[in-house]
Amino acid sequence: MSTVLRLTKQRRAVLDIVVSASDHPTAAEIMERLQDRGQRFAYGTVYNSLKFLTTAGLVREVQVGDGGAAHYDGRTDEHSHIICSRCQAIDEFDWPQRDVMIEYAKAQTRFEVRDASLVFEGLCPTCQADASHGQEGM
Ligand SMILES: [Zn+2]
Ligand SMILES: [Zn+2]
Repeated sequence: MSTVLRLTKQRRAVLDIVVSASDHPTAAEIMERLQDRGQRFAYGTVYNSLKFLTTAGLVREVQVGDGGAAHYDGRTDEHSHIICSRCQAIDEFDWPQRDVMIEYAKAQTRFEVRDASLVFEGLCPTCQADASHGQEGM
C-alpha cells in the first residue's frame, strides 16, 4: 500500500509497536514501549500517529471495558474482544455469525448498520489460575 511508503519515522515506529503487540495497548502503553526501545516521542506525536494510522486503516481503535482509554489493535479484520474483569487483559476471538447478527439487527430495528462489535467479559486464564490457587487450602 502506498500509505506505508509515506509513513514518517514516528508513524512507522508506532505502527511497529501496535502490530507486534498482541495485548491491544493504549496510547500510554505504546509510548512506554517506544521509550523502552530508546525512541522518545512527545505524547502528541504518538497520539497523532495513532490517529493517522487508524484513519489509514493500518490499525484499529478498540473501545472495551469501562470506556476509558482507547486500545489499539494491529489486527484489522473483523473480530471480537473479551476483557478480563479482574486484570483488564484483552484477548480476541473470531465472530463467525457477525453477518447474521447484523441482518437480525437491521430487520428488527430498521437501522442502517455502520459498525458492529461484540465485547465479552470474563476471567482470563491467569486470573482463573490465581483464583484456584487461593482455594487450595479449602
Ligand atoms: Zn485476568
Ligand atoms: Zn483485537
